[in-house]
Parts: sequence; structure tokens; C-alpha cells
Amino acid sequence: MSIVRPIVSISGGKDSLACAILALEQFPDTVRFVMADTGNEHPLTLAYVNDYLTQRLNHPIEIVRAEFTREIAQKRLYVETKWSGKGVPDDIIARTLSVLQPTGNPFLDLCLWKGRFPSRMAQFCTQHLKRYPLDRYLMERVSEGGTVESWRGVRKAESERRKNALEREHMAEGYWIVQPIVEWSAQEVVDFARKRGYRHNPLYMMGMGRVGCMPCINSSKDEILAVSWRAPEHIDKIEEWESLVGMASKRGFASFLTERAEDDDETPAETFDRANIREKIRWAQTSRGGKQFDMIRTAPPPACASVYGLCE
Ligand code: SF4
Repeated sequence: MSIVRPIVSISGGKDSLACAILALEQFPDTVRFVMADTGNEHPLTLAYVNDYLTQRLNHPIEIVRAEFTREIAQKRLYVETKWSGKGVPDDIIARTLSVLQPTGNPFLDLCLWKGRFPSRMAQFCTQHLKRYPLDRYLMERVSEGGTVESWRGVRKAESERRKNALEREHMAEGYWIVQPIVEWSAQEVVDFARKRGYRHNPLYMMGMGRVGCMPCINSSKDEILAVSWRAPEHIDKIEEWESLVGMASKRGFASFLTERAEDDDETPAETFDRANIREKIRWAQTSRGGKQFDMIRTAPPPACASVYGLCE
């Protein structure tokens, strides 16, 4: 019988932690851990994974990162040779070329290449920043032989899209996807790790319901507000990215929490004025559909604000 080699995808969150514990208990000698760093992670998540989790699991966690040097070079060539023929003014071409360079940050480079941020309708970030680098890593392991199991912290209760998730799926010769916590609730996942003496990502104690990108393009009103209070430097970062990605786009504007124009008459500049990250924070401080500032929402949050009851 071939050796089973589970590879747990670590995100720094509670679900992948539960998977890591289960895999470690069942396959202590062959388990491996890998994380895709999107370039938009909170430093506390990176420290939690690199310092705390590697020690606690007593295994290294390999980090993979997407890279867009080739795509950006191809886009530069396209802008230089084709945009003029498509009627794009010279000043816009020059502006785009001035920022269309790889920065080494996967998230920003992806958006510079695409000339826009991902959105709920076009969520290309997950694919390019997580799925592809992890799949490349997994295929390398499959080529080494044995039976590779990709362990993922997917739960049915997470979303409509995941409600039919399977616990085990045979993908190819020597390659399975294993999702051992598909039936678990969020609280069960949190409690499982705690009972085994594991610490959770400190971001959960700061009012974050999820600890992926900081912020995520799917952030709720409450999450945007929590990021603006707890990690204002990440809002500064997004503001800078909005400026750079806007310069790399033909429209000249790009908002991180992307929105379609409210009506056909709205210009890109007007959409940006309404939907840029600072405006979104102002909106997050309001209630009644954005009509009125809410005293409770504008007050500083408590020192500990875990939605999973993690505060001591
Ligand atoms: S956490 Fe959010 S922003 Fe980051 S890759 Fe996933 S969907 Fe995109």
C-alpha cells in the first residue's frame, strides 16, 4: 500500500488549524503544511503562522507566493504596442507604463497586471493568489509518488457555494482532496482547537470574523470598521494601492471594494469618489442605509471583541 502524505493548507485561521491538528494526530510522520501568502496578510497572521504554529505543530510550514513578472512584462508590451491603435491617449499610456512594474507583492502585482481590483463578481484573487500556487506545490508533491491528500478547512456552513462540499474526493491517480471538517460549525472548530490547548490567531480577539486578507474584498461593514480601528496602517496601504492600480487602469480610477457605477451617467471619477476605501469606512460608521452616523459604530471598540468567545 502506498504511503499517505497529507498536505494541510494553512491560512492562519481557525478552520485550517482544526485540519492541521486532525492531520497531525492521524499522520504524525508524513504530514506537511503549506501556506499561500497573498501579500495582503496581517503581520499578526504571518507571525502566528511562522512563529507560533510552526513551533506548536513542531513542523515547518512552507510558504508559497504567486508571481506575476511575466504577465506584467506581457501587459507592458501590449500597452506599448496596442493601446495607441485602440485610441488610448498618450498621457494615459505613459501613466500606465509609469506604474506597470512588478513590486514583489503578489496582491498588488496581480491588480497592476489586471488594471483593477478583484470583486465579488470577479473574485480572481483566490484563484491566482491561493489556488494556483498551492496547486503547483501539490502537483510537485504528487510527482514524488505515494498518495497525496490535500487537506482543506472547508465547511458547508460557510457559504451557499460550499453547501455541497464533500469530505473526500478522488481527483487523480495518487491525489485526493480531503475536507475533514465539512460538517462542523464555526464554534465547534474554535472549541476543538482550544480543548487541545492551541491558541487561535490573535486577530479573532480583535473583532475579526475571518483572518484572511487584511482587508478582504468581501469584507462586511463590521469587518471594514474593525480593520480601520485595529489596523489603520492597512487602510493606508489600500489607499496607496488604489492610487497605483488606478494609474495602471485605462479608467484612471480603481476602488478596492469595487462597485459598479450606480447609474450610467456616473463617471469613473464619481464612482471612485463614492467607493474609495476612505469613503467606505465613513459608510461603515453609519446606520440606516448610510444615512446617519451611528454613535455606537464610531466609538472605539473594546480591548477584546471576539465573535467566538475567545476573550479570557
Ligand atoms: S481573502 Fe478575500 S481578498 Fe484575499 S484572496 Fe481570498 S477573497 Fe481575495
